[in-house]
Amino acid sequence: MYSPAEDVKLGAKVKSQIEADTKDYPISKNQELTAYVQSLVDQIIQSKEIKYKNVFAYKAYVIQDDNTVNAFCVPGGYIFVYTGLMKYLDNEASLAAVIAHEIGHAEARHSSRRMTQGKALEALAGLADKKNKNVTKSADAAINLLLLNNSRDDEYEADELSVKYLKSSKWYAGAMKYFFAKLTCTEKSEGGTLRKLFATHPFTKDRVDKVNEELKKLNIEPPREANLFYKEYQNTKVKLLN
Ligand SMILES: [Zn+2]
Repeated sequence: MYSPAEDVKLGAKVKSQIEADTKDYPISKNQELTAYVQSLVDQIIQSKEIKYKNVFAYKAYVIQDDNTVNAFCVPGGYIFVYTGLMKYLDNEASLAAVIAHEIGHAEARHSSRRMTQGKALEALAGLADKKNKNVTKSADAAINLLLLNNSRDDEYEADELSVKYLKSSKWYAGAMKYFFAKLTCTEKSEGGTLRKLFATHPFTKDRVDKVNEELKKLNIEPPREANLFYKEYQNTKVKLLN
């Protein structure tokens, strides 16, 4: 069984491998864009519900790929957000909600808890040899090993944690719903673009119901324009994503 500190060690290795794999994971060099996403992460982890604030890295990276609507977090709090996701979303609250969901996977230690010692060693072996000609393959293999098996229950829990983390923030805590609503509309027409997302985050309609239950339980008031940051986000997109 992995300790949280070991999550960070494993995550740091996977993170380096992702950075080295510039073909599949072109990390944006736009410092302003990265600083913007980091600022969302920094605000989310102010929540008292965050357990590993002083243990995990909680560092944000932007992947310059407009065709992928996704985000992921490797153990230890290394968060990767695709420009495709940022462009797809309509308000800042829903971007914060998706990032909070990813932080939820890290905090609940979904992938590292599931990983047996053997599998972890296998993942690390794939990452260890920098001279390996199949660097790209090993990065992908390790990431798949870590991320591709989020279960439905993991998704429910990460959604619930997203609401909890955003409760004390400036954003509407239920903003994950805007993302779901949009997915439901585009699911059929743009299956290709969303394939990666559904592979790492199984989407089912009842996730919306579960988020609604959580909002009720925590007495979250309906959203207002002021806590969705719709206009601000349109400006942010124009400024940072063109
Ligand atoms: Zn997820």
